[in-house]
Amino acid sequence: MEQCPPLSRSIAGRVAIVTGAASGMGRATAILFASEGAKVAVTDLDQSACDAVVAEIEANGGTAKAFALDVSNVDAINDVVASVAQTFGGIDILVNNAGISAFCPLDAGEQYDAVWDRALAILLTAHQRTVRAALPWLRESDAARIVNIASTEGLGATPGDTPYVAAKTGVTGLTRGMAVDLGKEGITVNCICPGPIRTGMTNNVPEEDKMLYAKRRTALRRYAWPEEVAHMTLSLVLPAASFITGAVIPVDGGLMARNA
Ligand code: NAD
Repeated sequence: MEQCPPLSRSIAGRVAIVTGAASGMGRATAILFASEGAKVAVTDLDQSACDAVVAEIEANGGTAKAFALDVSNVDAINDVVASVAQTFGGIDILVNNAGISAFCPLDAGEQYDAVWDRALAILLTAHQRTVRAALPWLRESDAARIVNIASTEGLGATPGDTPYVAAKTGVTGLTRGMAVDLGKEGITVNCICPGPIRTGMTNNVPEEDKMLYAKRRTALRRYAWPEEVAHMTLSLVLPAASFITGAVIPVDGGLMARNA
């Protein structure tokens, strides 16, 4: 009888691109991947902020390179992805993480249109653009992995957040569609839906409000650290995660499980 081939739990030597990697979950993911031996392309809007993460990785003996990238700029995506492949000799892993918050009431008029366009461009369109740009190299990898960072807002809605909810719900659909289309090539595409996480995005929420929200909404009654999400991302990009695709996974302290 045929047997399961060896399943590797190492990403050592693999090339990973992480978008929005200068802060929060992207930063934690880049640092974790590098600590596991991956070669990491640290990409974000601001070159010096990327440089700081790379310096931290290198100080701990890891391999990384900074690439300034605004994911709402299609040409820049194509250029940076090609540079990463040239620098590191391929691409195995893509983590679409860059994001912004996009609260806006429905009756905000033209302001709503602007928030909507920006939210969709950065939170949804960019995900498919980076994947399409990286595909030629992902196709050459023997364990190509894509992880999209959505949100619990992609599974349910907070009032006043429709642009973000629409974009993040789109990410869950995009994940499923891409998983189905790329599955025959052995490329996996999964999606993580974080709940409340302590990052740049939630920095301005007062500690007291964080505690109130977490106690009222999550089963674990707390905000999470970005590293707790990064570990789920790592588990999905391992070569051994070879039969997981199209999954939409909450990392939310039980927020979506809670009903009262
Ligand atoms: P963060 O603000 O700490 O990090 C987001 C990073 O994305 C920043 O470094 C920012 O510069 C970068 N970014 C923003 N616009 C960009 C663009 N156009 N091009 C490239 N980079 C850009 O926030 P975070 O919480 O770590 O966010 C990471 C992801 O997690 C986002 O997609 C966010 O929507 C999602 N998320 C966050 C939470 C939370 O509670 N923090 C919950 C659910 C989902």
